[in-house]
Amino acid sequence: MTARILEGKDFSARIKDEARAAVAQLKADGITPGLTVIIVGDNPASQVYVRNKHKTCEELGIRSDVIALPEDSTKDQLLDTIDRLNADPAVNGILVQLPLPSAIKSHEQEILERIDPLKDVDGFHPFNVGKLVTGAPTLVPCTPAGCVKMLDLAGIDIDGKRAVIIGRSNIVGKPMLHLLMARHATVTVCHSHTKPLGEVTREADILVAAMGRAKFVTADMVKPGATVIDVGINRIAPKKLVGDVDFDSVKEIAGAITPVPGGVGLLTVSMLMQNVVTATRLQLGRH
Ligand code: NDP
Repeated sequence: MTARILEGKDFSARIKDEARAAVAQLKADGITPGLTVIIVGDNPASQVYVRNKHKTCEELGIRSDVIALPEDSTKDQLLDTIDRLNADPAVNGILVQLPLPSAIKSHEQEILERIDPLKDVDGFHPFNVGKLVTGAPTLVPCTPAGCVKMLDLAGIDIDGKRAVIIGRSNIVGKPMLHLLMARHATVTVCHSHTKPLGEVTREADILVAAMGRAKFVTADMVKPGATVIDVGINRIAPKKLVGDVDFDSVKEIAGAITPVPGGVGLLTVSMLMQNVVTATRLQLGRH
């Protein structure tokens, strides 16, 4: 039996519809949510991501600004820009596009922590991370939030399920742990020291692969009928992207699976739009 394919575009459209309606509601109250993205340097992939965010904002009626700083910008120039945006009431969301150029990369944490937590639409500020861990309403990193939202929209139950996450990064693995635990899954987080990995992953009703290793997860690592969410994006040739899951073999055993490309990646931008709405509401004291 072949797995149900969880197409990102279907879920992404539904998430955007929700965000569009929320934006319209805010506009009816005289408030236009605004996102400002700061991009430093000329990384081509980052430029594509930023253009995509700008386009999606425009599509949903969110005011969108992009501040492009030169490659040789200093840490202080970036911090000054963030301070100015923090003080601007027309800016509801601030996002610093990563990765930063190598000269200021080591200051990434300080830079991200300078963003007002109420405007931190990436959900990377320690204040928001702390709120996520304690279960308070907050701004949550877009990719893991999108995965959970997709499970809900697909009608896949999380409560009481055994979830296994491969990867423990701050932007995917760790927030995913807290989101799934908050939804009453029993969660195991694997990483490069987990032994033997396949034995742990085979216990999963919901398996999330976020490791950055092309086609690493093979059919023998998956429990029959499991839901497999592939967060990985790996470029194996100039025009060929694959996930962390060996899609062709795993789809023959899984119950549901996300493709790459065309899966989780599409949800990330839609969830960013949701976060701009959430940030605006939080700044208004609404939840
Ligand atoms: P990181 O490199 O920060 O983290 C990778 C994690 O995978 C680490 O915890 C690492 O373990 C673990 N890992 C690596 N190799 C193995 C292995 N052989 N066995 C078990 N665990 C392993 O990656 P990110 O979390 O930032 O991203 C993961 C993937 O998701 C990437 O492909 C990235 O491109 C993609 N991504 C996609 C997004 C989207 O929008 N769809 C958004 C963000 C990321 P350890 O901690 O021990 O080193």
